[in-house]
Amino acid sequence: MAEPLTFIPTRAAASARLAEFLPIAGRYAADRNFVRPGHPNISRLSPSIQKRLLLEEEVIDAARARWPFEAVEKFVQEVYWRTYWKGWLEQRPEAWSRWVEAVPRLRDALSAEQRSTLEAVLAGRTGIAGFDAWAQELVETGYLHNHARMWFASLWIFTLKLPWELGAAFFYKHLLDGDVASNTLSWRWVAGLQTPGKTYLARADNIAHYTEGRHVPDAARLATQPFPITEEPLPKVPAWSEDQTAAVDVQGRVGLWLHPEDLAVERGEFAGLNFESINASWPSGIATAAGWSPKVAQWTRAALEDGALRAAKHFGADVIASETPVLGSTMVEWAQARKLSVVVAYRPFVGPWLPEALDVEAALAKAGFTLHWRRRAWDATLFPHATRGYFPFWERIRSAG
Ligand SMILES: Cc1cc2nc3c(=O)[nH]c(=O)nc-3n(C[C@H](O)[C@H](O)[C@H](O)COP(=O)(O)OP(=O)(O)OC[C@H]3O[C@@H](n4cnc5c(N)ncnc54)[C@H](O)[C@@H]3O)c2cc1C
Repeated sequence: MAEPLTFIPTRAAASARLAEFLPIAGRYAADRNFVRPGHPNISRLSPSIQKRLLLEEEVIDAARARWPFEAVEKFVQEVYWRTYWKGWLEQRPEAWSRWVEAVPRLRDALSAEQRSTLEAVLAGRTGIAGFDAWAQELVETGYLHNHARMWFASLWIFTLKLPWELGAAFFYKHLLDGDVASNTLSWRWVAGLQTPGKTYLARADNIAHYTEGRHVPDAARLATQPFPITEEPLPKVPAWSEDQTAAVDVQGRVGLWLHPEDLAVERGEFAGLNFESINASWPSGIATAAGWSPKVAQWTRAALEDGALRAAKHFGADVIASETPVLGSTMVEWAQARKLSVVVAYRPFVGPWLPEALDVEAALAKAGFTLHWRRRAWDATLFPHATRGYFPFWERIRSAG
């Protein structure tokens, strides 16, 4: 019997898991598609990488230091997928805003048959082998293996004929690694929207093989043909402006806004700055606005607290980490009380923290404070290349060494 899956929201726990995984990282390419109890064959680092408790480059550097590149190329490639999806979404933010708008509308518009299918999904009684177990695993642990996510999404869309947008919302509600870019764009990919004409169809024999016989669905119950799902083309916008990528050069009493999209501020661009004070407040409406389960909200908040403790120690600064109904007002009071000259922050990505960020920026500006947005060089360098498919993106990285 495998140990129950647990994910601890600290950088220390993530580093320990990385150290535990490295000796088997060289077998990742051969093993990664198998869905095994407890998932010993994959890193299970996504909740930590998504919150940047660990940075992508730290994980890649550790794998490359332990193994020859050829042995871990597949693993490295997977880590870059996150960057690719993020870069792609930054340039097509409407993929997110359309999804946000669609979820309540489609929920209200479900037919009676779809409603009863959705009830069966949520109660874990569709009777499709594997599917019900994955729904339960997702809700209980906040995690699913990548292959199970692909099968689940495909069955949701093409066999159960439920809108992909509602499936993406179900995942985003429960995943501890919930990431607007990876989640929305992966669901779009399964649905055939991301690479037009290319859908992902789950097959019973593939599920039986990669679950090593634990789940053997009745092939006759599974869709054998995808159906086309279409949309208006998404407008493309630039993902950044010059000043967000410029070197951090701020004078006077500087405050840092810390949020759960980047929780290793003591590493990288900000590491050498002097922060007077750090604000890691938790906006009380964020979980509802984002659609997170209480478990996801608690995990995210605990990760934020871990980031705040480390940042306080590294910068020798005081930290505010309370809950607030209006983040913007709290930030203004803090900036005034600490007599700050300027506030800096990594700019949140497209997703639920971005509206918070824009409110904070407006509130600070109204009170006479400037908020300097920064991007990590990693994002600023790589995002511009996420314009077409993943493989041109990867080839560019690979050829750069
Ligand atoms: C429908 C669907 C929804 C998904 N939703 C999310 C999501 O909300 N958040 C999320 O982080 N990932 C999402 N993924 C991607 C992927 O399933 C998870 O990142 C992966 O399963 C995490 O497990 P791991 O850490 O053991 O990954 P490993 O296999 O050990 O991979 C190492 C790291 O590479 C990155 N990675 C691996 N595969 C992918 C991928 N396909 N896309 C992006 N990054 C990847 C992750 O950071 C991961 O921690 C989704 C995939 C699908 C098919």
